[in-house]
Amino acid sequence: MNQNGKPKFAMYWAASCGGCEIAVLNTGEKILDVDANFDVVFWPVAMDAKYKDVEAMPDKSILLTLFNGGIRNSENEEIAHLLRRKSQILVAFGSCANEGCIPGLANLSSPTEIFDAAYNSLSTENPSGLRPQYEFDMPEGRIHIPVFYPVLRTLDQVVDVDYYMPGCPPESHQIAAVIDLGDPGVTRQSRITSSGVGDRCIRINGL
Ligand code: SF4
Repeated sequence: MNQNGKPKFAMYWAASCGGCEIAVLNTGEKILDVDANFDVVFWPVAMDAKYKDVEAMPDKSILLTLFNGGIRNSENEEIAHLLRRKSQILVAFGSCANEGCIPGLANLSSPTEIFDAAYNSLSTENPSGLRPQYEFDMPEGRIHIPVFYPVLRTLDQVVDVDYYMPGCPPESHQIAAVIDLGDPGVTRQSRITSSGVGDRCIRINGL
């Protein structure tokens, strides 16, 4: 809980298409309730926030984190662990985080094949055949970029997940109900229940 009395909210995208982020914005006026119900502390698509700001927060100080996308590189994995540590409720949000979805299809190809397609295809202008270097020395010092992993993993193959919200992307009414979790007039336990689909699958009462 923050000084203003509102619980903290975070959203993050790992290996994803961005559609899950758009789906949250596509809830129409309901998006205003995100600000009304929560103190939004980390949402790279929507606001400027630094990883170090999240690292400085007490563990479990974020009530709700919606994590979309699979784990394809070292940065995705690092932030999954960070948000797991800082969050009371971590939701695998959308099909990519749940079971890989479209980014997971790249698991049918080797990293070499993926990089060939990205950097050496007919549609790519790359006469020198340059490839990303994970470490590179610049005049300003050594820079690093995230390490690309051999395969994409789902969120729960990397950290414990509290709830799963499937869908590519999740439906607006599901998202709206999650936003209501921050409404002080709503008893959280009455809003999150188990369903017959899976004992940790999100189901909102009455929907
Ligand atoms: S679940 Fe679908 S909409 Fe969401 S990030 Fe993945 S591909 Fe995009």
